[in-house]
Amino acid sequence: MKKLTSLFVLFAALLFVAPVQHIVAQQPTVWVAQDPLSTTVYITKTGKKYHRDGCRSLSQSKIKTTLKEAKAKGYTPCKVCHPPQ
Ligand SMILES: [Zn+2]
Repeated sequence: MKKLTSLFVLFAALLFVAPVQHIVAQQPTVWVAQDPLSTTVYITKTGKKYHRDGCRSLSQSKIKTTLKEAKAKGYTPCKVCHPPQ
């Protein structure tokens, strides 16, 4: 039974530590302070979403624009890369 008890203690310790690491990893990206409407975002030829640079959805086409332009044209923020709104 002694081995089982030490396993349980180890498991409990992991449960205690894991959520802390999760919170640290989940901290949102801090955007550099600037006029949000002049932020550069990217749209595609066919999609109806706008993206941050480096989004995997930009592999087909990548058209540089501003957040203001993208919103004016009815584009909505990508759910994958979470661009500024
Ligand atoms: Zn995206």
